[in-house]
Amino acid sequence: HNHIDHATPEKVQAAIAADDTHAHVPAYEGFASYRDNGGYAKLNDMRANGDWEAVQDDILSSGLRGLGGAGFPSGKKWGFVRMNEGPRYLAVNGDEGEPGTFKDRYYLERTPHVFLEGMLIAAWAVEAENCFIYMRDEYPAVLEILRTEIAALETAGIVEPGYIDLRRGAGAYICGEESAMIESIEGKKGLPRHRPPFVAQVGVFNRPTLVHNVETLYWVSKICREGGEILSSVEKNGRKGLRSYSISGRVANPGVYLLAAGSTILDVIDAAGGMAEGHTFKAYQPGGPSSGLLPSSIDDVPLDFDTLQPLGTFIGSAAVVVLSDQDTARDAALNMLRFFEDESCGQCTPCRAGCEKAVKLMQADKWDTDLLEDLCQVMGDASICGLGQAAPNPIRLVMKHFADEI
Ligand code: SF4
Repeated sequence: HNHIDHATPEKVQAAIAADDTHAHVPAYEGFASYRDNGGYAKLNDMRANGDWEAVQDDILSSGLRGLGGAGFPSGKKWGFVRMNEGPRYLAVNGDEGEPGTFKDRYYLERTPHVFLEGMLIAAWAVEAENCFIYMRDEYPAVLEILRTEIAALETAGIVEPGYIDLRRGAGAYICGEESAMIESIEGKKGLPRHRPPFVAQVGVFNRPTLVHNVETLYWVSKICREGGEILSSVEKNGRKGLRSYSISGRVANPGVYLLAAGSTILDVIDAAGGMAEGHTFKAYQPGGPSSGLLPSSIDDVPLDFDTLQPLGTFIGSAAVVVLSDQDTARDAALNMLRFFEDESCGQCTPCRAGCEKAVKLMQADKWDTDLLEDLCQVMGDASICGLGQAAPNPIRLVMKHFADEI
């Protein structure tokens, strides 16, 4: 219903105007209101007489880590990019293709200028010649908001016309992988690159490139305006900071919830109004399908970066999907592997053939666990990018925690 073939900006606008059942542009804080509330004053100060290293220190001491999934300390990235001779670029990853993740959309549909100011602060810090925003095309309302608000920034003289280049992703999951996204920005097929060199050295059009996720830049802006304590002062279960959990599945009120980074799955389910009526908590995906599934018995671990590693999983983009007694873990894992099979870019054999083989093996009534484990080993060791490397996680976790189902 909401799909628009070969959407051009004009078509999207026309469709939105003509069809009020179409995903409409929600009410959000536009440029005038944001600026009247002090927006862009910080950016102007920095541009006039700021010291980028002082801003970098603020970001580092806030504890902000990349919120696209990898969790790399955000301030450190700035240093790596600055180390390389210009011209440099900034690329924003707004692909948000991880199933169960919708936090970037949440922020962009409400306060797009918090993100845009954060982006321009980061661009100033690394002296970026241009900013590319790679935005998920399945978010027509977000694209419309960004087009309008970028034009407002140009009119107000905050950026030169064309300084911010809004690009539409075409729906490939792999284009959320940063090097594939860069290939796609360059107009090529989204195939992940081998590393090194890293994108901080050789990124968009072979220039040093700072890549940040949308929500990361949202927090850069907040930290610069309100102080790093908004993150560093929050402490729970030995973890500092906040996480925007995208919560879906068998809960009463799915949505985006901003909680302490030390929250456990029980806190997360609580925030979403508890389990949906008639459902008993059974399992959960902590951070996207690549993170696999944990059983409900593991309910006291903070859902944060690093904490889940010993359990064979990770928090990624904090896309939590809750399963109940009415679901089976084996079906959920099979669904995840089917997704990876579809979305594998196909350039390396362990992932291309491995996902296909895994799906076949997982359809058997009784899983051949030895063979599956061999396959997991090869995929994890020999795939080029995170898709193939992490695809074994759902398989291994089901073999470990839900052996009675397989
Ligand atoms: Fe492509 Fe999969 Fe190889 Fe990544 S691991 S480069 S998605 S084939």
